[in-house]
Amino acid sequence: MTDKSAAAAARATVFGYPRQGPNRELKKAIEGYWKGRVTAGALRTTAAGLRRANWRLLADAGVHEVPTGDFSYYDHVLDTTVMVGAIPARHRAAVDADALDGYFAMARGTRDVAPLEMTKWFDTNYHYLVPELGPDTMFAADSGKQVGELGEALALGLSARPVLVGPVTYLLLAKPAPGVAAGFDPLTLLDRLLPVYGEILADLRAAGAEWVQLDEPALVQDRTPAELDAAARAYAYLGGLRDRPKLLVASYFDRLGDALPVLAKAPVDGLALDFTEAAAANLEALAAAGGLPGRRLVAGVVNGRNIWVNDLEKSLATLGTLLGLAGRVDVAASCSLLHVPLDAAAERDIDAQILRWLAFAGQKTDEIVTLARGLSEGTGAITAELAANRADLASRAGSPITHDPAVRARSAAITDSDARRSQPYARRAEAQRAHLGLPLLPTTTIGSFPQTDELRTARADLRAGRIGTAGYEERIRAEIQEVVSFQEKTGIDVLVHGEAERNDMVQYFAEQLTGYLATQHGWVQSYGTRYVRPPILAGDISRPEPMTVRWTTYAQSLTTRPVKGMLTGPVTMLAWSFVRDDQSLADTARQVALALRDEVDDLEAAGTSVIQVDEPALRETLPLRAADRPAYLDWATEAFRLTTSGVRPDTQIHTHMCYAEFGDIVQAIDDLDADVISLEAARSHMQVARELAAHGYPREAGPGVYDIHSPRVPGPDEAAGLLRRGLEAIPAERLWVNPDCGLKTRGWPETRASLENMVAAARTVRAEL
Ligand code: GLN
Ligand code: ZN
Repeated sequence: MTDKSAAAAARATVFGYPRQGPNRELKKAIEGYWKGRVTAGALRTTAAGLRRANWRLLADAGVHEVPTGDFSYYDHVLDTTVMVGAIPARHRAAVDADALDGYFAMARGTRDVAPLEMTKWFDTNYHYLVPELGPDTMFAADSGKQVGELGEALALGLSARPVLVGPVTYLLLAKPAPGVAAGFDPLTLLDRLLPVYGEILADLRAAGAEWVQLDEPALVQDRTPAELDAAARAYAYLGGLRDRPKLLVASYFDRLGDALPVLAKAPVDGLALDFTEAAAANLEALAAAGGLPGRRLVAGVVNGRNIWVNDLEKSLATLGTLLGLAGRVDVAASCSLLHVPLDAAAERDIDAQILRWLAFAGQKTDEIVTLARGLSEGTGAITAELAANRADLASRAGSPITHDPAVRARSAAITDSDARRSQPYARRAEAQRAHLGLPLLPTTTIGSFPQTDELRTARADLRAGRIGTAGYEERIRAEIQEVVSFQEKTGIDVLVHGEAERNDMVQYFAEQLTGYLATQHGWVQSYGTRYVRPPILAGDISRPEPMTVRWTTYAQSLTTRPVKGMLTGPVTMLAWSFVRDDQSLADTARQVALALRDEVDDLEAAGTSVIQVDEPALRETLPLRAADRPAYLDWATEAFRLTTSGVRPDTQIHTHMCYAEFGDIVQAIDDLDADVISLEAARSHMQVARELAAHGYPREAGPGVYDIHSPRVPGPDEAAGLLRRGLEAIPAERLWVNPDCGLKTRGWPETRASLENMVAAARTVRAEL
């Protein structure tokens, strides 16, 4: 084949498709199985039906090669753990007794056995189950799921490509098993793992796979020379196998950097690279590495993790450049479509014009097919699509929704001093002490109180029209009364209103801000059977009216103690939404910050003396590559300060984050210049307090003294013990007493008991001062 005829054969493909089904059938079937209402057989049938429907949908849309093995009952990294036989010892018996139940036991735990730890899949909002490995881990190939699903697709007469988590990424994502020294490096198991991958590849070859895709997204992170060496070794080995399918090594979410030449040199048959904006550097790097002459390049030109319509002409230009760099160029999304909702056409409440700016999995599939056709047959074959696309892009670029002159003017006029409090912390602390009159070791909570069934029912009743707004608000008022009176009775010093009115800490604000879109069906898998509907930052952001003032002041009217106002910060609003791709994240963050700043100022004007701006996503949004982090932290901390700097010195700004380790962003936390920060710390025995102290953190802090992740009630002695530990690092004048996080997932009985014990502990330790 000459290069030209190879180009004429450009194929459309994807790496993975949402697993859920159009009506979240998979979630319902799995949860039904857990409750004993759905049999294992029925669950398998539902799953097979969903896989078949996805493949048919892809093939009907014109996708030439469908992915297999991307389907999962819970998580594809857990599937990989099963595939390589790395079942943790504590789950072995359950897995041997019943593979499906054992699988779910690893995912969710049982009464007696802890599940695998869950963590974020790179910088997406998908969570995977962390493999647990040790020097004694013995791998064993179990290719059943992969071979079975390939067979299903081939039986439909489709051209199919199994997709596997690659061995290097699998090991880099793993952690030492419990009982194994923390210093153990799972990558040392590579030589033991590779033959197992070799067996699986041979099985897939025998089952009819021409190509197999090995995903190595861990190579887009900063890697040591030893790790890059491991990648080179892995693909030299796998590429050198005789009985193997053709290998396509895929990476996504960022540029490959130093790993690109390593993969380009490896004896594999093709690479799949991300060519979206975030990974634009791949293009030059590929050219610099000499391209992939005679080999296959799968070009991820359609953004697989955001929901905006593609710029087809721009993508075609990129594809055209790439034609000169590889034997054959195919078209794909940058990553699995798992990270976007299914179908924009299902949205009924979004304006028809705006809907045309959106591309969910179904629309992206069409874009990929269109681009492949344009690449193969020339742009003449897709003139209608190009014209429609040009019109949609123009409509978006010229819309008053994306360009609100008032928002833009305000944002442009921001100066450095707008993002600085009027007084340094020491002066503010004095003013706040005088204003608030709090005791030493003041007690507070993080914001939410239990979201009871009654509250959920009230919201459902309101949505279904069974009750009106007045009836709903009556129920919220009653809940606030109860929460406030409980806190007063318990002796908490700084109260909250309990967030009863909030369905979700991002959506609640998104629904009230102009420029944000909500979806009806835009579900995306967060983990297992949990799906979320991230709102869409679609236009310039403004706040037509106050969002929280009414409920906060209502709560304040019920008590003489200070009630803390409660907002979600700008970085977290971005992190848990789909973001604009037509301006920088920094610009979007600034707009959100200004809208929130108005809310902060209004809360203060309405008499709120303590305002908390939650930023639990500050750390999880860190860019994958260290070189990109300073710029991120710069705009992120500025957005927080812009939100909070309009207030008087005697108004106390709190922030909250929930992770125990943050050694790498302690400077950024300092740069937030919040008066008080509350952090998760109970499970790590106040590790955070020591890290703050080591950094010389000058302001007040509340390392959590009670773990809210379990219903266990910590006794007063336990909380007192943690407080004393906290005092070893942070002086009493600057130490707060609070739980690790909000209480919305807890029940009232344990919440009551735990907070009573927490206050008792604060009193005991105060008396010792
Ligand atoms: N204020 C929020 C709550 O208490 C904070 C939630 C969070 O940190 N994720 O629910
Ligand atoms: Zn939290």
